[in-house]
Amino acid sequence: LGNKTTVKPKPRFLRVNTLKATTESVIEELSKIHMIDKDDVVPDMLVLPPGTDLHNHPLVKDGKVFLQGKASSMVAIALCPKPGWKVIDACAAPGNKTVHLAALMNGEGSIVACELNKERVKTLQHTIRRSGADNIETVNGDFLDIDSNDPSYAEVRAILLDPSCSGSGISTERLDHLLPSHSSDDQDDAGSSARIRKLSAFQRKVLSHALSFPSVERLVYSTCSIHQAENEDVVNSVLPLASSLGFELATPFPQWHRRGLPVFDGAEHLLRTDPEDDLEGFFIALFVRKTATEDALE
Ligand code: SAM
Repeated sequence: LGNKTTVKPKPRFLRVNTLKATTESVIEELSKIHMIDKDDVVPDMLVLPPGTDLHNHPLVKDGKVFLQGKASSMVAIALCPKPGWKVIDACAAPGNKTVHLAALMNGEGSIVACELNKERVKTLQHTIRRSGADNIETVNGDFLDIDSNDPSYAEVRAILLDPSCSGSGISTERLDHLLPSHSSDDQDDAGSSARIRKLSAFQRKVLSHALSFPSVERLVYSTCSIHQAENEDVVNSVLPLASSLGFELATPFPQWHRRGLPVFDGAEHLLRTDPEDDLEGFFIALFVRKTATEDALE
């Protein structure tokens, strides 16, 4: 775990679930007891002092707010699905980004939330119930087994792909329950690089699969890893395929200062968040493809 980020007190972020509450009503309720600010980048995101514990707050239990970090909340916003679209969340549990998508779509259109792990599907379904969204279908299965030429997916216009990753951008404190313990640092390093190579190969495979859906116009690939092998390298490796299918990299949050590591031309489109900015280490790549109508208008 030597490469995990050190833990320093970070502000607490909350995302207002606009399917159930307004940001103003949540501010009014919480400011009775807490210091609270609106985030200046992410809409409907509130910032509270480090250490604020709202786990048992009624607003959380009722699904009016989600204890979702700022960096994590930038992912669905980067995808920017329009109300009415058909969207896939390819690796969905526990479902924070799935229900964020539903809120951004005002509950209009439909979302297919795919999750491989049966136990985690239950958590996903619980998150969905808590959010109040009624346009999300859960699929317990492998995203790689969804046939992109199946007519039921012919109208999918956006895909959010947040696959399994090393989690190296998240503080050890929060990952402890997910990671196997090791007996020595040497084993950690050897085990860790083999694991990252494996993850990176899987990430390339799922990203290539996501690119193959015929009507997709917007595709976001995200991780909570700080490793180039899971981020820039994965994106770079699919660029020839993406380009042959008409996709280009676009720039999510153009005003954001921290971009991809400059390891290939175009990496400046990518977005990184960093623990140094009081956030977690997330990575976002946005692929866009012009529709035939847009092409004709040019
Ligand atoms: N997007 C989620 C959120 O914000 O709440 C977090 C997703 S987590 C990083 C990755 C998830 O992908 C895990 O729940 C894992 O079980 C699932 N997964 C891994 N491989 C998969 C596959 N081939 N098909 C579908 N889901 C998969």
